[in-house]
Amino acid sequence: MQTTKTRAVDCAHYINGAYVQSENGKTFENVNPATEEVLGAVAEGGKGEVDQAVSAARKALKGEWGNMPLKKRSNIIRKIGDLILERKEELAELESLDTGKPLWLSNNVDIDRAANNFYFFADYMTSVGTEAYQQDDIAIHYAVRRPVGVVGLINPWNLPLFLMTWKLAPALAAGNTAVMKPSEVTPMTATVLAQICKDAGVPDGVVNMVHGFGETGAALSSHDDVDAIAFTGETVTGTAIMKAAAPTLKKLSFELGGKNPNVIFADADLDDVIETTIKSSFINQGEVCLCGSRIYVERSAYDEFLERFTAKTKELKVGDPFDPDTNVGALVSEEHYNKVVSYLDISKEEGGTFLTGGKPAEGFDKGFFVEPTIITGLGSEARCVREEIFGPVVTVVPFDTEEEVLEQVNDTHYGLSASLWTSDIKRATRFSGQIEAGMVWVNTWFLRDLRTPFGGMKRSGIGREGGAHSFDFYSELTNITLKM
Ligand code: NAD
Repeated sequence: MQTTKTRAVDCAHYINGAYVQSENGKTFENVNPATEEVLGAVAEGGKGEVDQAVSAARKALKGEWGNMPLKKRSNIIRKIGDLILERKEELAELESLDTGKPLWLSNNVDIDRAANNFYFFADYMTSVGTEAYQQDDIAIHYAVRRPVGVVGLINPWNLPLFLMTWKLAPALAAGNTAVMKPSEVTPMTATVLAQICKDAGVPDGVVNMVHGFGETGAALSSHDDVDAIAFTGETVTGTAIMKAAAPTLKKLSFELGGKNPNVIFADADLDDVIETTIKSSFINQGEVCLCGSRIYVERSAYDEFLERFTAKTKELKVGDPFDPDTNVGALVSEEHYNKVVSYLDISKEEGGTFLTGGKPAEGFDKGFFVEPTIITGLGSEARCVREEIFGPVVTVVPFDTEEEVLEQVNDTHYGLSASLWTSDIKRATRFSGQIEAGMVWVNTWFLRDLRTPFGGMKRSGIGREGGAHSFDFYSELTNITLKM
């Protein structure tokens, strides 16, 4: 039995400044993945609720929000960050109840970073400029920036509050109004976020939220009066959203799936490699889009790496998200657990060897727990090497030459991120520039600066988020030419 100070919340939609149920009263159950207990009811929205939310957002765009002085809007956005931190304990507990992730992780990553998204964009928005050119004595050209309009923000379950705020903060900073569609699997922190926005002074109708499944997201993506969709989730869902958004030519920002390589050369500092690779493999149960689930190790370091990495992995404690000693919590849902376990079966069929793990974690009557798993012996065509498993499962493959590993690294439709470990600076610059990924870490992982471009290439995404990139997505530019 888990003990939390926070009670799970029932989740209603949030439209035009008020929590509302679906018109037809439909709800679905929100399940705690660590205990399989029902946490509460979630309103299930359809086209009607999406219509109401979009119409409230459109109206609010023309109201006080659209004409608010920059400094006032920036102060409201900063206040959202303050209120997130004021309610940090509650939000962290809700996030862990919903996702099954360890509470220490919710506190240190999800909630802190969510607040930071608002602080960052509250500052950033006050210094954003445009362009101006003088064309001899003929004309002056200058661009004015305006919001895109009503934006739909569709999010996944792995970092629910963090990823929602990573979109909402710049959308508001650029003056847009928004309709949020949180994942049906993790609806609680977004529900509280709506109240936090109101308490911070966001006018009614500026931030709206509709709960529901894929059809609810589809209603938003195809809506005639939504100007842009910012989506984070699976690549296949991105394809569906692109199709749905095509008739209305919406602006799209996509952060999609990945199968990220972690390339370890023998000259790397193995202590650093092991410490970081444990995190990049298993943090958040391996349910981070940036996790390095394909590990390649130069052959001369392969045996030592495997021995030390396996020993450290065996020390990881799988358990109750609310136990401070837990390293790996529960997978987010029964459906996702079944998917991850099915890949363990596939790995056996493909001839893989488990150095540790390879099965559901023992000692749990309830909940969706899987042992951290290291697989060796798979070739580059194996499904477990090619497909996104999104759980605590990594494959390790030896390599002999830089050319050979580069080929394997890039032999994928994905291109989100990569890690590279070497003490040779020439190799680091040469190799990192050839990896087909939106983000490459050299001798580190997950280190972020919110001004830098975040996102993937190939089928891992379209566009970039962060700093100027977010601002460009959430703004339109009008060029004005004054004849002199
Ligand atoms: P998902 O694509 O199944 O769902 C994401 C959201 O899309 C949910 O809110 C869902 O209800 C909605 N949705 C589903 N079908 C839809 C449709 N047809 N139209 C509109 N909306 C629809 O993804 P998930 O399982 O929640 O999340 C895991 C995935 O997210 C992984 O692939 C992971 O790599 C990816 N991810 C990527 C990043 C990144 O930054 N690139 C970050 C986190 C997660």
